Amino acid sequence: MSGCEHKISGSSEKVWLPYFFEGRERGLKPHPYCTECGLIKNLSSEKPHNIGYFMNLIAELGTRHKIAKVQTRLIALEIEKQSLDDKFGMDRHQQEELFIEIATRILNVSAREVSELFY
Ligand SMILES: [Zn+2]
Repeated sequence: MSGCEHKISGSSEKVWLPYFFEGRERGLKPHPYCTECGLIKNLSSEKPHNIGYFMNLIAELGTRHKIAKVQTRLIALEIEKQSLDDKFGMDRHQQEELFIEIATRILNVSAREVSELFY
């Protein structure tokens, strides 16, 4: 987690940025941002996943592959480090991309095997 509680900027202080849906750019929209850390609020209509969702995926991967406890721990640490659970700034697609990157790096699995687990 970023450790910031995120304070939203006023309606007059927004930045125009691309808006994404299903990972594709769908034009520009004014985005509010956090006045404390500067993180731009994610406006995707696809709700971000909870941290528990990704823990379930790791457990599921563990039933198909040999995963050591230390690897599970490493993934959890990476999720925390990359603020995957920061719903303010992450949309579902970004989270999934990041999770694939983390899981394939730490475990000996392909991106396809990871993305097949998404529900
Ligand atoms: Zn913030």
